[in-house]
Parts: sequence; C-alpha cells; structure tokens
Amino acid sequence: MRLPVPAVVVLVGPSGSGKSTWAARHFRPEQIVSADRLRALVGEGEHDQRAGKDAFDVLGLILERRLRRRLLTVIDTLALDAAQRQRHVELARRHGLPCIAVVFDAEARVCRARNRTRARPVPDDVIGAQLRRWPEVRDGLGDEGFDAVHPVDTVELVPLALLDAPELAARQRSDPLTLDFGLHVNAFNWPDGSAATAARLAAIAVAAEDAGFTSLWVMDHLLQIPQVGREWDDLLEAYTTLGFLAGRTERIRLGVLVTAVTFRPLGVLANVVATLDVLSGGRAACGLGLGWFEREHRVAGVPFPSVAHRYARLEDALRVLPLYWGPGSPAFEGRTVTVPAAVCYPRPLQEHVPLLVGGSGERSTLRLVARHADACNLFGDAETVRHKISVLHQHCADAGRDPSQITVTQLSTVLIGRDRDGLAAAVDRLRPPSVSPETFAAAVNAGTTEDHIGRFRGLAEAGVHTAIVSLAGLDGPAPIERFAPVIEAFGGGDGSPGFTG
Ligand code: GDP
Ligand code: MG
Repeated sequence: MRLPVPAVVVLVGPSGSGKSTWAARHFRPEQIVSADRLRALVGEGEHDQRAGKDAFDVLGLILERRLRRRLLTVIDTLALDAAQRQRHVELARRHGLPCIAVVFDAEARVCRARNRTRARPVPDDVIGAQLRRWPEVRDGLGDEGFDAVHPVDTVELVPLALLDAPELAARQRSDPLTLDFGLHVNAFNWPDGSAATAARLAAIAVAAEDAGFTSLWVMDHLLQIPQVGREWDDLLEAYTTLGFLAGRTERIRLGVLVTAVTFRPLGVLANVVATLDVLSGGRAACGLGLGWFEREHRVAGVPFPSVAHRYARLEDALRVLPLYWGPGSPAFEGRTVTVPAAVCYPRPLQEHVPLLVGGSGERSTLRLVARHADACNLFGDAETVRHKISVLHQHCADAGRDPSQITVTQLSTVLIGRDRDGLAAAVDRLRPPSVSPETFAAAVNAGTTEDHIGRFRGLAEAGVHTAIVSLAGLDGPAPIERFAPVIEAFGGGDGSPGFTG
C-alpha cells in the first residue's frame, strides 16, 4: 500500500489481529502512538485498564501536537469505538492531512490462538466481545470519512504531493499538456568554496538552458534565509549574479524571485532592471515582493517599515517602474514616493519588462497582481493553487482585467532520483540530522521522473503555466540533467525566453 507522508494512519482490528507487529515492522517506534505503551507510561503497565482513560487523553494530545508539526503518525489501538475513529478523522481534516484506516481482518480463530500464546492473554470474554463487533466495524469503515481504507499489506511511504502521481503521469502521456519550467537557484555553499562559485554557477545556468528551462531565478536576500540554510552560508547578491549570467547564457530569461521593495529606491531598481535587460538582450523579468526577513534589514542597515507601508511601496513599484521604462518622463506621485520625472536610460530592450509579484495573500497581494502585474508566484499543492487562482480571477473580474493576461507561476522544491534506491541515498545525504528521512522526502518532494511528471501534471491541470523548481542539492549540472526528462514530457522548452506565457 502507498501511504502518504504526512498522514494519520489508524490501525483497526481486534486484539491479536497483528496490529502492533505490523506497525513495528513498517514504522519507527517514535511514529507509533500505542494505547498499550501509554497505559504503561501513565499507569502501572500495558494491561493497567484503570489507566485507560488517561492513556487516551494523552494519546489525543500527542496526536494533535504531531499533526501541528505535520508528522506521520500511526495510531495503534483497537479502534473498535466509532467515536474514537471519528475524532481521528476530524483532527486530521482540521490539519489538512489525510486519515487512513488499515484493516486487520484476521480470522477469529487466529486471533484467539495468538492471544493464548501471549504472556498475559486478553480474557476470553473480552476478545469474544471484540470479535462479535468486528464484522460490523469492518464493513462500516468505508463510510466514515477516511481518505483511504487499506487491507493490511506491506508499506511504501510516498510524499503526499506525489500520492496520485502515477495516474496523473499516465494522463500526461496519453493526453499531454504543455508546461513551462523555470529554475530557482537559492543556495551557493558549494564544494570547493567561493573561488569555484562563478564556474559552477555558469555551468548550472548553461545546463539549465540546455535542459529546456526557460527562466532562471535567484532570491533577493542579504543573508541566507533560515528555510534554506545558515546565516554564514554564501549568498550571492541577486542582480550582480544575473548580470554575470546574462553574459554566460543566450536564451534563458533571468529574474529575481522576488526583489524586495525595501532594498533599493524605486528609480535605482528601474535602472538595475533596465541594465540587466539591455545586457541580456531583452531577457529580464522583474519579480517584486514585500520583503519579510527583518534580520537581514537590521544587519544591512536597511529600514524595515510596517507591512502596510511595504504594501504601499509594492504598489508604487508596480505603477512607477513601467513609467521609468516607457515613453516620456512623466511625474509620479505615489503613496510612498514622489518622483518629479521618471527618467531611466537605458530603456529596456523589451517593449514591456514583465512584472511578477511574489506571494499568495488573498486580500492584498493577489489584488495587486490583478491590477498591475503580468504574473503571480504561488506556493502549495494543486488544490491550494486552484483555490488561489480562483481568488485571483475574482480580483481580475473586479478590476476589469482579462485573467488570461496573467501568467501563473508556482514555486516548489524537487528532489529527483532515477529510482527508489537513488532517492533514499540522496535523502540521507541531504537531510539535516534533526529531520527524519520521510519528513525530509515530503518537504523536498522526493520522487522519480515519473512521480514528478505526475505532480506537475496536477499543477498544470490546476492552472499553473510556469513551474519554478528549486532542485534540492543543486551544486552542478547533474540534478538538472536528471530533471530534463520531466521538461521533455511537457513539450520541452521551445527555446524562447519563458514565463510570460
Ligand atoms: P495486536 O493485538 O493486533 O496488536 O496483535 P499483535 O501484533 O500483538 O500480535 C498478536 C500475536 O500474534 C503476537 O504474538 C504476534 O507475534 C503474532 N502475530 C502478529 N502478526 C502475525 C503474523 O502475521 N503471523 C504470525 N504467525 N503471527 C503474528
Ligand atoms: Mg497491539
């Protein structure tokens, strides 16, 4: 059975049906929450029935805390009580996680026989009562809201985002959709140190172009962000990096995902992006966002104004940049800045430098996209993306904007391996010691080529035009070459600067 990570897995079956044995074979002890073990911890032993209520109270608390952390959790109780099962289903739903029942349908005779061999058998009348209830419990599980009900079997753990990948990949093969791919380069702490960085970066960019990526993106941060690495990891300045890549590549679009509107006066930014556009032969994209990482502002001595002020500044940027780049030198009166004349030379080579706004905020960010931008950048799974796009389209309707003018981009992390063994080895090599293999695999979408074709098919069906991928462990061309067949499956990058749709 393919079990998603994270999920709640509820074992259901009478005493002696093999639940604890199966759980121990397929999961680590810390992933299993067992009523027996909790009775031993809060009472005098696994068989201390007087500790039963306390054990279940603690079980509820543990489950809730684990779900907050999105950890795979296996619940090893009899689960013959419908109200208990319902609590698990509802708690999982509240945390947006699947709840899966595994059914232990051993014959009554077998359960009784196994029970008799135990050091402390369950009394005959107790097991008899369980076995009488069992058929009704088993037959009703399909109607209780579980995301899946599996008969007991061996287990393959699969990142949740890849659970439906096989069916989706088959659909992509029989009835292909096109999808454009961008590469996000967000870490530079590479082997051989800073002296080798320029050569490695150039090799990565050239490999990306050859593989059919149509855009390349870097982050705009002054310190490495905690989500990616450590404060003392190398992090190259965004526009300097793209200027270098402009000279080393020929076709790929270059952009910052996303430029913090707090870092540069808007007229300076206009000049920076126009320069990149000229030096790259018209390949600049202008990604914009609020900026959020307070520490980098403090460290660099850059003011970090309130969210409201940063939103106002983002809106100013979206309005004034096209004035700098367009005909004439109009004056601009914004909410955070007044410009007597929006003068910027050189003009960009592109008639229109595409503006992308990063962020999924439904009230403000997506509204700004609908009013002023050419593209948005979303996170999350296909279902989340589908919802965000419907919100964006509502803002478009309100603003009288044609939604087909807006390119939907989505950013996600990818760990791609040729087979399961290669993936497991890569997960072990790349994961931080404090993160378990299955949690890390889920966080980086560890999967084979086929898994990723399926996942991107799901995103394409949800309305994504450009998938921007951050390749886990990217320190040279190899991961890009492994990803190339995924691009191929979606039409393979037509050689033009991508992402504008
Ligand atoms: P639980 O009460 O459902 O948790 O059942 P256990 O996993 O504790 O199993 C009860 C007994 O049956 C134990 O002595 C196990 O060693 C034995 N047992 C469990 N699964 C199997 C199995 O697949 N085959 C055999 N032969 N014995 C099993
Ligand atoms: Mg047991």
